[in-house]
Amino acid sequence: MSTEALDPKTLDRYECGACGYVYEPTKGDSTSNTPAGTAFEALAESWRCPVCGARKPRFSNIGPVGNPSGFKENLKYGLGVNSLTPGQKNVLIFGALALGFLFFISLYGLR
Ligand SMILES: [Zn+2]
Repeated sequence: MSTEALDPKTLDRYECGACGYVYEPTKGDSTSNTPAGTAFEALAESWRCPVCGARKPRFSNIGPVGNPSGFKENLKYGLGVNSLTPGQKNVLIFGALALGFLFFISLYGLR
């Protein structure tokens, strides 16, 4: 992937999992002479967190500026059924089975 002609505002920010430092692509990193507008992906593999020295794999994508944690919130809402408690799931499953059974019995009774 080329880093040329990228709108700096769309560049994703990355947060250090060790110390919480956030790499801002729109600002770059003066500690390593990284110019503003450099995507995190474009940083050298030898690049380290300027605060704690953690390597790139310790960083996680937290999205572009102006879109804080939107990704995580979408995930939460998107889970839907998976956020039900096991008890609620049992009620759903048992209810569906009971309905199916009643339906089957009624068909049987019509014959
Ligand atoms: Zn760090």
